[in-house]
Amino acid sequence: MWQMLSSLEIPDPFATFVANKYAKATGLKYDFFAKEWYLKTACCGEELYAPNKKTMTKIRLYHTRNECLGGY
Ligand SMILES: [Zn+2]
Repeated sequence: MWQMLSSLEIPDPFATFVANKYAKATGLKYDFFAKEWYLKTACCGEELYAPNKKTMTKIRLYHTRNECLGGY
């Protein structure tokens, strides 16, 4: 877990590439009009919004751990 978190802190091109690839895989989208990241969660279909990807990751993890009623 700490390895994943520390890799997110490093702003190198490969990490960005991986993040973008991951974003596509998870359905993360950027709303250019609202200037927010948008994600429809895979677990229950709830829609999440965040100002950046890092915050989105936190919101998504919080959702799956504490809020989600559809996954676990
Ligand atoms: Zn959910």
